[in-house]
Amino acid sequence: MLTDAIAEPLTAPRPTTADHFAFPTDYRLLITAYYPPMRQILVTSALPYANGHIHLGHLVEYIQTDIWVRFQRLMGNRVAYMCADDTHGTAIMIRARQEGRSEEAVIADMQAAHTRDFAGFAVEFDHYGSTHSAANRELCGLFWKGLRAAGLVTKREVTQLYDPKAGTFLADRFVKGTCPKCRSPEQYGDSCDKCGSTYAPTDLIDPVSTLSGATPELKVADHLFITTEQMRPFLNEWTQTGDHLHPDVSKWLAAAFLSEPLRDWDVSRPAPYFGFEIPDAPGHYWYVWFDAPIEYVAATAEWCAAHGESFDKWWRSDATEVHHFLGKDITYFHTLFWPVMLKAAGFSLPRMVHIHGFLTVNGEKMSKTKGTFVRAATYLKHLNPAYLRYYYASKLTPKLDDIDMNLDEFVNKVNSDLVGKVVNLASRSARFVEATGLAAKYPDDGGLFASAAAAAGEIAAAYDACDYNRAMRGVMALADQANKYVEERAPWNLRKDPARSAEVQDVCTVALNLFRQLVVYLAPVLPSLARQTRELLNCPIARWDESQTPLIGTKVNRFEHLMKRVEEAQVKAMIDESREEAPPSAAGPTTSATTGAGTAPAGGPVSDASVSAAADGPEPLAAEPLAPTITFDEFAKVDLRVARVVAAEQVPKAKKLLRLTLSLGGDERRNVFAGIKEAYTPEQLVGRLVICAANLAPRTMTFGVSEGMVVASGPGGAEVFLLSPDNGAKPGQRVH
Ligand SMILES: [Zn+2]
Repeated sequence: MLTDAIAEPLTAPRPTTADHFAFPTDYRLLITAYYPPMRQILVTSALPYANGHIHLGHLVEYIQTDIWVRFQRLMGNRVAYMCADDTHGTAIMIRARQEGRSEEAVIADMQAAHTRDFAGFAVEFDHYGSTHSAANRELCGLFWKGLRAAGLVTKREVTQLYDPKAGTFLADRFVKGTCPKCRSPEQYGDSCDKCGSTYAPTDLIDPVSTLSGATPELKVADHLFITTEQMRPFLNEWTQTGDHLHPDVSKWLAAAFLSEPLRDWDVSRPAPYFGFEIPDAPGHYWYVWFDAPIEYVAATAEWCAAHGESFDKWWRSDATEVHHFLGKDITYFHTLFWPVMLKAAGFSLPRMVHIHGFLTVNGEKMSKTKGTFVRAATYLKHLNPAYLRYYYASKLTPKLDDIDMNLDEFVNKVNSDLVGKVVNLASRSARFVEATGLAAKYPDDGGLFASAAAAAGEIAAAYDACDYNRAMRGVMALADQANKYVEERAPWNLRKDPARSAEVQDVCTVALNLFRQLVVYLAPVLPSLARQTRELLNCPIARWDESQTPLIGTKVNRFEHLMKRVEEAQVKAMIDESREEAPPSAAGPTTSATTGAGTAPAGGPVSDASVSAAADGPEPLAAEPLAPTITFDEFAKVDLRVARVVAAEQVPKAKKLLRLTLSLGGDERRNVFAGIKEAYTPEQLVGRLVICAANLAPRTMTFGVSEGMVVASGPGGAEVFLLSPDNGAKPGQRVH
């Protein structure tokens, strides 16, 4: 199914171009020089997990990718857009057991729902596969052989939590307990929502299986690992040079992963597990995260087989650029493990990995109880998908920043930009030329069409760089100029005078040409508007360079309403329905849809109403009232620095103290005695980042000299909570 607009048969003959219309073409040459005449591009979006429905958070990515794919096609490039359902893992196995049916039945239902939702938002894949397919099994075997041959697979014992009641090992998300770092209750086995620290599920205090409520037991099993450390030189080069990643991502990988030995990646799970059994390790299954990205290749293989395409040309040749789109929560899978797998197995490396941030709604995490956790299907019951495609486009940049969907802004932007500026051009002019058609000669428009045509290169460059925000601003600036022209000429007044009918035709010819030009520029975002415009004006809207030549002398079909205003009541109805859909028990890993193998929800973490500031009591502040006000200069005297704990040890005879060696980067070390012995073990501290008061006068204590202080909160004893910076901070950085 090549849904290429170019491949679509044209119902109307291509309009004649104006011979007399002298028009500068130098920027067209510029576009051609900048973009090679025809690129062959393989595009993927991350695979939605088969355990939940598509919601507005997921749609950021699929709409972002679909816009890019449509843009590339409009430019004349050849694109294949691949995606699939991610189906394996414990979550599906457990759900199938609970529902008393096969895993295959569960994933088939979900795949049908996902496919419907994507179609509803005009997200058009060339092939939509499933990780539970023969093609994927075969390719997993191929990747595995490559990894084995490269000497990258090792085996070792792993102690994992096991649910004796459910008879299964527990994935991290199926264990809950108290965070070992900050002592917050009800945290998952891999990371803490409260303090953000990551840990092993075996570190949780009082762990409970969320499957059965049983207390998990520790059980030993063999696991197979991929050792990425051997590939460090390759990863250093691939992640740090060659423009495969946004510079912020390169920097983050360098600081968070490449600065220390790369940990081996556990890629097998013992039976029972819903997945593929490893051929040379019976009783062991590939971990869901191993087979998920391989499905990008497997989906392509299925598509190639169905369309007589050369698989090698798409995945084993420099002729094809591979572009992955994904959310920031699954960055390291796609930028560390995945390149290693591709390289070991002899497949093309990605030309670029495009990473987006999470969606927030009205400045907060999507919330089921607030009704802002909106499913794709619920949105479609109330609102036009074009609104969301445009709104997201207006927000998306190449950066990793989260994007906020402010519902008031959503209503205003759609109404003022799409309805007020774009569609309005056609609705105020098309009817007046239904009888006459467009003028035979393009009228003098004061250079408007030419200047909007000249913007084509800049808008195209913004799309290509995934800077849709910039592209949309460019288009709306052109729309403003066009509207000014129509308002000044006021064809609705001119037409009252029969003597001025030629003038009416000229003004409407200009207005509709400026409208059509905008629609070409917006076609990647608004395919439905492009289709309607094609029907109205009998023009193809299939190539970017249609923006360069005006339409003349063609028939104008009967004007049908193109797009309605959004009413606030529609948005409210959608939010109300979403709130009703969410029973209080709906939170948790079995109901939140995830992109990419059941890790954190890709569209943005889900907030829980029980976690709110209102639950925080007044006692801590009362126990230690605020200190007297100080000036900024007084504050600036304290030099707080990010430091890494490079060594930690018990101090014999000291009741409260641990001795820490802190690194401020380079050779700068500090010896610090910290009163945190009852709250932390030395093992918990080594390697982590802390905040250190670095310019305190050294203090001689019974046990030695302390050269600073680590910053912590809490009343003392076991109730001490160290402060850490967010990911990306580096030892030696000052805290301002
Ligand atoms: Zn915590």
